[in-house]
Amino acid sequence: MAWVDKDTDTMMLCHFDKDTMLHEIAHLPKDDAHSDAWAKRLWELQETYLNKKDAAVAHLEITRYLSGRRLYINKFGEKPPRYVDQVSIWVTAKPASK
Ligand SMILES: [Zn+2]
Repeated sequence: MAWVDKDTDTMMLCHFDKDTMLHEIAHLPKDDAHSDAWAKRLWELQETYLNKKDAAVAHLEITRYLSGRRLYINKFGEKPPRYVDQVSIWVTAKPASK
């Protein structure tokens, strides 16, 4: 998770990975939420800044959004595979026993 605060020109990242950062950068030119234009910007950023394998995985992550599914169908002519969100380690972590 991450977000951009345009009032303070600050980007806050909870995940320190390149894909999360690119997701937020795609929001910067215009505050249009997860619109079709945002999905297209993010797709292009992934193509530019991720290696081919990571970009393919990242493209599938965009399909968690309706705009991303539309873009995927536009590019590949078929529905994307069902996106399964990863379970956070904070959900499955057990407290250390004392
Ligand atoms: Zn977003």
